[in-house]
Amino acid sequence: MIRIINLRVAVTVKATIEEIVEKKYPQMKGHIQKIHVVRRAVDARKKPNIVFVYTLFVEANNEEQILKKLGKQKDVTLFTPEDPEPVIIGERPLAHRPIVMGFGPAGMMAAFYLAREGYRPIVLERGQDVDTRAKDVETFWKTGSFKPESNVQFGEGGAGTFSDGKLTTRVTHPRLYEISKYFVEFGAPEEILYKHKPHVGTDKLRNMVKAMRERIIEWGGEVRFGAKVTDVFIENGQVVGVEVNQAERIDTTLILSGVGHSARDTYEMLYKRGVDMVAKPFAIGVRIEHPQDVIDYSQYGVDPKSLGLGAAEYSLVYHDKESGRTAYSFCMCPGGQVVASASESGGVVTNGMSLYARDSGVANSAIVVNVGPDDFGSHPLDGVEFQREWERKAYELGGSNFNAPAQTVGSFLGQEHAPSIDAGRYSYEPHIVECDLHQCLPDYVSSVLERALPYWGRRIHGFDAPEICMTGVETRTSSPLRMERDDNRVSNTIGGFYPMGEGAGYAGGIMSAALDGAETAIACMSIYAKPSN
Ligand code: FAD
Repeated sequence: MIRIINLRVAVTVKATIEEIVEKKYPQMKGHIQKIHVVRRAVDARKKPNIVFVYTLFVEANNEEQILKKLGKQKDVTLFTPEDPEPVIIGERPLAHRPIVMGFGPAGMMAAFYLAREGYRPIVLERGQDVDTRAKDVETFWKTGSFKPESNVQFGEGGAGTFSDGKLTTRVTHPRLYEISKYFVEFGAPEEILYKHKPHVGTDKLRNMVKAMRERIIEWGGEVRFGAKVTDVFIENGQVVGVEVNQAERIDTTLILSGVGHSARDTYEMLYKRGVDMVAKPFAIGVRIEHPQDVIDYSQYGVDPKSLGLGAAEYSLVYHDKESGRTAYSFCMCPGGQVVASASESGGVVTNGMSLYARDSGVANSAIVVNVGPDDFGSHPLDGVEFQREWERKAYELGGSNFNAPAQTVGSFLGQEHAPSIDAGRYSYEPHIVECDLHQCLPDYVSSVLERALPYWGRRIHGFDAPEICMTGVETRTSSPLRMERDDNRVSNTIGGFYPMGEGAGYAGGIMSAALDGAETAIACMSIYAKPSN
């Protein structure tokens, strides 16, 4: 295969990709068999001249000869794709079926690989199946009526089900492509295989998750909803079983735990049972939303639709010299909405999501500041308490009914005659209540955001406009703790217990959590034989 990188093509060009390649590299003319578009990024730095930047794999006759004819070209090379390591099946006897805790991306992919190889996993998911869950979440958003076990954080598909379904990750690993191909097989759009910043959207994601569950069951796995692991039984430092809903015991010597970053009661239970864990940094702040065209025009200079492009994104960072902290945008959702994402009564949490079309007209993003054990304490569970404290303050400010506190940028920055929030300027449901967001953020977070906003306003025109709405609080950016594991991915302290995914501190986002789940399952299978009953 020939790999072409950095192929720059104006977005206005109408030719096929084959024509473009043959024009640029006439030595390939007549030899091309197939072109795989691996990546298509948008470069809008020199507006209005916007270009696509392609990475391509070209299957051709006489590949080596073509390269010889091309001479020295740094952007065109011969490429042999790296296959992920094959799955090796171990020999240690497994008397019982493995248990997978949680059915988010980590648990789902762990169960998928285990089931594919005949390990017949039992998945225990505290939340509900995706259809029931979607109704519960809808009711919560419309009425504020909250279900602690079926919400935006808990249920089939995990935390990312009600999301933009961005599949970007900073991790590189040969298995990521294999996982993406599975996602496409189960309903994700094919473009996720090549787009620079792929996304699925909550609408397609829900069907994909369901289809993957069905395949796991077809392969001999079992998926139980409304099944919370309430205890883990340990004998002589080794897992021997789990308790479900404080009522049932299932014997097992192998647990793959992908409980996510919001399973606070489960964290506590695992801590009591001796799972080694440490506090880790994360970030907190608020969610900001702009009319999408403010972002589009700033990024592209024109309406992106006129160029066949989707709603524009952004990524912002501000290093604050005064405090040494960093503020950044996180989980930016073009054409989406701000969503109530609580997983506990008495706390308001914000996040964002989009449909595949990204056409709501609202661009939203978390703007957060890093915090760490120096701010909240070094006990493994101190970060959880810290999150809870600010979520409770937001809840009380909002009127103790899941309405969220909100404020305009102008008012937050203390500007004279700052506007109030306009009815059409926010998307959070059930409602927002105007108040001072300083009251639900630590001072050292508010002050960094106050300096970051005007700085970002110089990068994106209108970003810090006085009427822009901010809603609090964004606290679940990543896990507040990490469960320590060794090189084989097993807990440092409990035999047969495999912490994985975001909640264990080994992932940040859908793709990295899915990868960690898959690789954890593969690590387990390299040790254990298939279960005997
Ligand atoms: P989770 O997805 O949190 O899954 C954990 C699962 O475990 C949950 O379903 C939970 O119910 C279950 N569980 C917990 N405790 C127990 C127990 N005791 N017994 C049984 N089950 C239990 N990431 C992106 O990459 N792109 C995005 O666009 C994006 N948008 C997001 C939007 C929102 C609204 C939210 C909340 C998150 C978003 N994220 C996004 C983050 C992403 O969802 C997470 O990084 C990812 O889901 C983590 O996967 P996980 O499997 O480790 O944990």
